[in-house]
Amino acid sequence: MAMQRTTSETLYKEALEHIVGGVNSPSRSFKAVGGGAPVFMKRAEGAYFWDVDDNRYIDYLAAYGPIITGHAHPHITEAIIRAAQNGVLYGTPTELEIKLARMLKEAIPSLDKVRFVNSGTEAVMTTIRVARAFTKRNKIIKFAGCYHGHSDLVLVAAGSGPSTLGIPDSAGIPTSIAQEVITVPFNDLDSLKIALERWGDETAAVMVEPIVGNFGMVMPEPGFLEGLCRLTREAGALVIYDEVITAFRFHYGTAQTFAAFPDFAAIEPDLTALGKVIGGGLPIGAYGGKKHIMEQVAPLGPAYQAGTMAGNPASISSGIACLEVLQEQGIYERMDRLASDLADGLAASASRHGIPLTINRIRGSFSAHFCDHPVTNYDQAQDTDGELFGRFFKLMLDQGVNLAPSKYEAWFLTIAHTQEDIAATIAAADYALARL
Ligand code: PMP
Repeated sequence: MAMQRTTSETLYKEALEHIVGGVNSPSRSFKAVGGGAPVFMKRAEGAYFWDVDDNRYIDYLAAYGPIITGHAHPHITEAIIRAAQNGVLYGTPTELEIKLARMLKEAIPSLDKVRFVNSGTEAVMTTIRVARAFTKRNKIIKFAGCYHGHSDLVLVAAGSGPSTLGIPDSAGIPTSIAQEVITVPFNDLDSLKIALERWGDETAAVMVEPIVGNFGMVMPEPGFLEGLCRLTREAGALVIYDEVITAFRFHYGTAQTFAAFPDFAAIEPDLTALGKVIGGGLPIGAYGGKKHIMEQVAPLGPAYQAGTMAGNPASISSGIACLEVLQEQGIYERMDRLASDLADGLAASASRHGIPLTINRIRGSFSAHFCDHPVTNYDQAQDTDGELFGRFFKLMLDQGVNLAPSKYEAWFLTIAHTQEDIAATIAAADYALARL
């Protein structure tokens, strides 16, 4: 029987009157899973959500990534309360900012200098400006399906959000801007090579999610990042890693410092964009890189970037507290084990019910695509059964399991999930898969 969600339905109707589409980010709508009222949540703690009708859900959305400690983690909550009591916004520098900058630099050696902003979008947008200022070139190369926020340049043939809604590009972006962007398939060095042969001397930067989180989780094939960095540098362009999702997601560090993948450790990007986890759930972004490149940024250099809310004590305190929690021994290994059990359970159930499912798992994060082929690039991720996913999503919701309402989004484990949650989720999935 479908779960009762009448209050959510009423609130959705009301929201539609006042908020465009009823949601403040399109990925929250249920458009990509067959429509209907999104669930209005009223409380979250640990691995759970409670909706306005008092239904409980095990959460694998993790707010699209930031909530790796689980919701309302006491150490983070305490830090936010302390910050609020001391005043939430100063417009002056604080010592806290130095502390978080140091923590990031210690974990990510390619950062000589950082700057805090308010979102991943801002972080990425500014890395592009800095790369353009530094190289005095205009073009950007990016990879199909990678999502880098909603600024003009990176919404050209962008990933999860727009593709989910079936809008290839956004309206409102001039063709003249789109022409500054070249999109090539992920994991395809030959295409990158061709693009660089043609436009290399006009290219300011090649931007990449070093581990993709936006068309499911996709690993770079061995040698891809190494080749990407080599070809990019041969062309005199900069390498920008968008680690908004990947930072502190798989280990205490980033994809670029992930020793478990030998291909990564040797390669440092010139600039890195960060966000999500580094704010512990409050709005944040950051970008950073080599000193001589970062010195392009005002007040030292000619590339302007500013922010009234940037580095605010609440977000920074929350970020410091979150990283402190993540420093605890064994945390990532535990998420890895739980995610492995969950992925195995899903795979076993899918195979029992004769439903093809491709699972890409990287430690505590994974994606489950309804298809019978591997997913290593965006074309393959598109070529999966969205209608089936939509029905699976709703059956899971009715069983009290909250996933992202899109076939492209990952499942995120948090440190709050337990073995019992995993068992309950596998049971829910078995029920759902049996009814597809
Ligand atoms: N880069 C990546 C890789 C992302 O996944 C996202 C958000 N999903 C962004 C940038 C944009 O971040 P924000 O939503 O904080 O602007």
